[in-house]
Amino acid sequence: MKIRLLPHTLINQIAAGEVVERPASVVKELVENAIDAGASSIEINLRDGGRSYIAVIDNGTGIGPEDLSLAVERHATSKLAEENLFHITTLGFRGEALPSIASISRLKITSHPQNQPSAWSLTVEGGVKSALEPASFPVGTRVEVRDLFYATPARLKFLKTPATETSHILECIQRLAMAYPSISFLLKEDKRLIAHFPLSGEPLKRLSIIMGGEFADNAIEIDITRDDMKIKGYAGLPTLNRANSNLQFLFVNGRPVKDKLLNHAIRIAYQDYLANNRYPLVALFLTLPLDEVDMNVHPAKTEVRFRESGNVRAFIIGALKAAIQQAGFRSSTTVAQVALSRFKPSSQPSSSFQPSFPVSSGFKTDTFTNRGFSEPQKETFQPSFAEIPQPFQPKEETILHYPLGHARCQVHDTYVIAETNNSIIIVDQHAVHERLVYEELKNNQQKNAVPRQLLLIPEIIELSEKHLQLILGEQQQLEQCGLVIEHFGGNSLIIREVPAILGDSDLRRLIQDIVDELEEMGQSHNIQHKTEEILSTLACHGSVRAGRKLALDEMNALLRQMESTPFSGQCNHGRPTYVELKQTDIEKLFGRR
Ligand code: ADP
Ligand code: MG
Repeated sequence: MKIRLLPHTLINQIAAGEVVERPASVVKELVENAIDAGASSIEINLRDGGRSYIAVIDNGTGIGPEDLSLAVERHATSKLAEENLFHITTLGFRGEALPSIASISRLKITSHPQNQPSAWSLTVEGGVKSALEPASFPVGTRVEVRDLFYATPARLKFLKTPATETSHILECIQRLAMAYPSISFLLKEDKRLIAHFPLSGEPLKRLSIIMGGEFADNAIEIDITRDDMKIKGYAGLPTLNRANSNLQFLFVNGRPVKDKLLNHAIRIAYQDYLANNRYPLVALFLTLPLDEVDMNVHPAKTEVRFRESGNVRAFIIGALKAAIQQAGFRSSTTVAQVALSRFKPSSQPSSSFQPSFPVSSGFKTDTFTNRGFSEPQKETFQPSFAEIPQPFQPKEETILHYPLGHARCQVHDTYVIAETNNSIIIVDQHAVHERLVYEELKNNQQKNAVPRQLLLIPEIIELSEKHLQLILGEQQQLEQCGLVIEHFGGNSLIIREVPAILGDSDLRRLIQDIVDELEEMGQSHNIQHKTEEILSTLACHGSVRAGRKLALDEMNALLRQMESTPFSGQCNHGRPTYVELKQTDIEKLFGRR
């Protein structure tokens, strides 16, 4: 066959195949153009999930009539002034969005440039341009896309329902809205309002619209600069987590990106505090020198390549870990809210149940408020009080000001109830203990000094050949964690020493759990991760305190240890270790507020 140059429109349609996957891709390109044009307000209108109509209206600089027909030509751009692909300061730079979209739809651009008296419009259908026409439009630009994919109908078959396409568009707007808090965004479908991001001086406010209201209360601010790299944003507390990574947002130099490296960095940073199948909520804005990032990796520009990816990764992990550490023993407020919402008053106040006393009278004040939550209710807890070894207790008023307060009692041999000057704390002693044991083990393991205990009668355990090989492969690692095992002929294993912290727990189950963990992790994980998994399994087995009666001084000691141990607000699986019920919330529960 003879070689020939392809016609213009076909070339553009080929490019469109990469750039325009679905209506959301069109919206993304058009909104990015509006942002690049310096707009402070952007409105998007849709019909049929964008399939029959998309309009993006901005109040940016506009396009002059002399540039209008060039804008829809391939490789025509007003950006890339320096002709350097490593100096990109705009969202667009490839000059192919408009011609690509024009080749597969009916496109109309109406624009009124700044400092010019009037507006002009240009129509392109299936790649064919019409003549410029005068129009009436305020300063800015409106780009309308009708009948997307009409010229490449095969693509239509890949579209999902309008509702699904709209949700993709919304997601795209959300990402851009997060990155540009100084621009207002409005998304409508058939005149119905889908999303509105008004201007707000408070970046966290806009993030909360997207990440959920609870994010604002449960996020730690990050603002770190190292050399010429900068990271800003918010990291959610580990106890605020989800079953997928949909609420993890990453931006590089103002561009929303999806990047495996960054996702993995988040995973590593949180791995100590979350179960493997749970994902934290994170919004990170990374600023790097322009020549450190290659933006030109993917036609849709959603992926980037870093020159020094190891540095970037370490920087992100460090920033996130520091943030979590800074939160210390904080556990998310959502935990308390969930708890509160499950509380049901024991007798539902209804018309048949009316207090027989005047609630607002002195009765309430005398009987309740005067011995409210900020004062110890001595009558109720009298028996426990008798057990406090007074000599080494700081003064009670002082302890009430500690973040986790003063232990009052233990219930169900599992929960410690403490009082602070404005809340009640309920601690899951097993979960806490597991966390404390883990931190201690990890600390000792790093110093290669996990206290061990020699088994007087070594335990012999039989495993499958595969599992035996798997665990023997980690012999050295296990020894560092305090577990000394050896091959004992055949398919058996002998345990000679165990971490002292384990006490007399079920070693057979422990080994099985470790094997399961190793099997799940496979080959792919690094040594540190493996060690942490092993330590976590050991900690779980070493936490024997559930079901144990604690004396008050032991309970208070536990609270003090929690306060001074990093990350004690959640157990190794990201579950909370304690719940704080604020006095104000409790008062609401009883209708006192
Ligand atoms: P790119 O964004 O890569 O330059 P596009 O095809 O998306 O390529 O746009 C081509 C050119 O049209 C842009 O460089 C810009 O000059 C102009 N343009 C597109 N949309 C707008 C807009 N909303 N406001 C002002 N100028 C625009
Ligand atoms: Mg563009």
